[in-house]
Amino acid sequence: MTPDAEFGYELLVCRYAELAWHPSEGPRPALVSRQLGTQRRRWDTVVIEVDPTAFERRRALGDRTIGSDQLHVVRGAPAEWTWYRDALPDPGYPWRYVRQAVHRAAGRDLIEERRDGNRIQIRRKRPYPDWVERIVAVENKPDLDRSAADRLADQLEHDVDAGLADEVWLATETTGERVEPALLREMPVEAGILATDFADGVDADAADVAWHPSDLSPADGERRDPETETLRLEIAERAYGKGWRSFHDTMRPDCRHFELRREGRALVPYCAAKEQVPTARECSGSCSEFSPEPPQWRTKGWPIEGGPGKGLKRVLARRRDRERDRVESVE
Ligand code: SF4
Repeated sequence: MTPDAEFGYELLVCRYAELAWHPSEGPRPALVSRQLGTQRRRWDTVVIEVDPTAFERRRALGDRTIGSDQLHVVRGAPAEWTWYRDALPDPGYPWRYVRQAVHRAAGRDLIEERRDGNRIQIRRKRPYPDWVERIVAVENKPDLDRSAADRLADQLEHDVDAGLADEVWLATETTGERVEPALLREMPVEAGILATDFADGVDADAADVAWHPSDLSPADGERRDPETETLRLEIAERAYGKGWRSFHDTMRPDCRHFELRREGRALVPYCAAKEQVPTARECSGSCSEFSPEPPQWRTKGWPIEGGPGKGLKRVLARRRDRERDRVESVE
């Protein structure tokens, strides 16, 4: 089945990427997230290729995203006790906000802090690892028609120019037929084209590479500027904490009509009332057909505690953790 909503398609592309990354270069350890980017540009699917050893060290810092303000502190914390204003680079915003971030980072056990007179000193617990190898942006467009192709061409062009990603792709659905060559010719030559066929659900063979992408990483001996590096790390951190299964945070798995359905090796949300994959926007408390799961569902042993809604969230959280474990073991 091909979900009619772009949202459903996006989830299938995320799952495919998790199973098959890299589509033309062979297996690479990577984690997958969705709807991330900058203020100016949000990518549908984001693949973060990682160094497995450094990724293991990142996991030792906990499962949650380290946000931009705490990242500044954690990356800059020195090996010896130092006044935080001497230790950290100028943040470009008032130091009192940095002081708050120091407290929060220490509260999460990411760094140590102590008071020396009226000065706050910090010391690192462990260095922040260099775990991000490459960042790949994928734009998903199940139905590629002329107007969608024009819009996408501009967006992908921007991605190539911005240099934030190491590789950009367009994923589009073919259901067994070739993608219209005239439309593909509109795309920037640097962008890869992934022709998906999810008619029978998702597995690692559910897509073909119709066009190989260019490597947009800086050439040997060149580096990105520090602001871009920081921005990339912030995106990677959000991808790490969020994954792509966090749709349950904004949708209503506690609605009696909400289900998770299997599409090959993917689990995607399904609305039994509307008989389709609901969009993230419609599946909300304001949905006219929202109906809370009855309280007795929560006491009849399904699942052990919390009702089906909580059970589905736990299933998705377990899958995310399992994928993180798998990333460490990909050679
Ligand atoms: S009825 Fe509305 S809230 Fe309930 S699962 Fe369907 S879309 Fe979501």
